[in-house]
Amino acid sequence: MNARCEHTGSYYAATLNWQTDYPQLAGEHRCDVAIVGAGFTGVSTALHLAERGYDVALIEANRVGWGASGRNGGQLIDGFVSTDRIEKRLGKDAAEVAYQIGMECRDIVLQRIETYSIDCDLKFGFLDLALFEKDMDYFRSEIERKQERNYPHKMELVAQEDMHSVVGSDIYVGGLINRGNGHLHPLNLCIGEARAAEQNGAKIFEQSPVTKIHHGVHPRVETKDGIVHAKQVVLAGNAYLGKTEPKLYGLVIPAGSYIIATDPLSPELANELLPQDMATCDQRIGLDYFRLSADKRLLFGGLCNYSGRDPNDITATLRPKMLKVFPQLEGTNIEYEWGGYIAISMNRIPQMGRIDGNTYYAHGYSGHGVAPTHIAGRILADVIAGDSARFDVFERVRHIRLPGGKWFANPALALGMLYYRLKEVLE
Ligand SMILES: Cc1cc2nc3c(=O)[nH]c(=O)nc-3n(C[C@H](O)[C@H](O)[C@H](O)COP(=O)(O)OP(=O)(O)OC[C@H]3O[C@@H](n4cnc5c(N)ncnc54)[C@H](O)[C@@H]3O)c2cc1C
Repeated sequence: MNARCEHTGSYYAATLNWQTDYPQLAGEHRCDVAIVGAGFTGVSTALHLAERGYDVALIEANRVGWGASGRNGGQLIDGFVSTDRIEKRLGKDAAEVAYQIGMECRDIVLQRIETYSIDCDLKFGFLDLALFEKDMDYFRSEIERKQERNYPHKMELVAQEDMHSVVGSDIYVGGLINRGNGHLHPLNLCIGEARAAEQNGAKIFEQSPVTKIHHGVHPRVETKDGIVHAKQVVLAGNAYLGKTEPKLYGLVIPAGSYIIATDPLSPELANELLPQDMATCDQRIGLDYFRLSADKRLLFGGLCNYSGRDPNDITATLRPKMLKVFPQLEGTNIEYEWGGYIAISMNRIPQMGRIDGNTYYAHGYSGHGVAPTHIAGRILADVIAGDSARFDVFERVRHIRLPGGKWFANPALALGMLYYRLKEVLE
């Protein structure tokens, strides 16, 4: 991955609407809430709080959106967590809260784009892809489950013989369209929201890695050159927080996901690959996900590394996967390649919690965070403002720490993932 400070060499970084240049933290500052990390979790929390009149300092080690938030597949998908998993652990009422949160998170993103006129290439339309008949069975049960809850968005099954109306590939046995979900340019969204937070009074610091968090009645966070004294602290470093807060270390595991972007395709080829310009993904744990960018490149991603080591050559790793889906791209140049770290929790439930009463955290979205980070920000703002109803539901979920330190944790995850991948292959 990139060294500290500037954005990774992604298609998103090359097509920024606005290059942020916030100051480094220096000297002593005081505020209501200090937020560590300016990805969607931190920025969303900052904006929710600033809109409510809180005095907020948002402190980012690198640039706004430098982490997963500025590097991801741009797929805007509702849902926060599997409601079944919550029901199993906490019962029906908690599952209902989880469902409502999952609906709200996508709406927050749309409201933000509209309220603050954020130009981020938003497109509606999402296609789940079936590689196996069992995926189609899952889609049917998913439609039924959602209908029972009066799900508001249109969902359509696509039969194998109709697949070319949605994707120019022969490898899928069917699909499920959701017209309520979609895709966007995540880095432009993140930066747009940070600017909105700034307009609402938040102070933003970049290139300012927080090195220590002091807990207690008067918490403070420290960087090399500065200190922020706050009434409350929010930790939003997700997969990149490392050992900054020892109490969180090992609760989530960083897993690498990687994306390649082709040169812009001809309008004919772009239309052949994705005639309805939807975002897509298949159903495997190590899934392929792809979509067109606004300038008609294919952005093709895959979760292909759980070992904590990046592939030597991202294009060489992903290109064969892309050609398996779209052999017609043989000979097409890849202009950008990049990767980022997703934070995976052991039970795949995003974690929200608090340390010593006044330091809050949210992380572990487990691969699906563009929309969920936005409700996490609202729930953190709520609990800081004194309404803990929804925060309490998630604080009750047991946060499982992976045994061992850095060198054990990722191989353990790799083994776990290998197990699931083998299951996929053998089933
Ligand atoms: C390649 C890839 C593809 C993905 N695709 C999708 C997708 O299509 N749809 C989807 O919903 N989700 C996707 N995700 C997941 C999604 O991007 C994340 O869940 C989400 O962005 C997490 O946001 P965050 O703000 O919690 O973390 P991040 O965006 O990672 O932000 C954390 C920030 O904290 C900063 N930080 C860490 N430690 C410190 C410190 N000590 N001091 C100061 N700052 C610090 C980091 O520099 C970083 O900027 C993808 C992720 C990746 C990596």
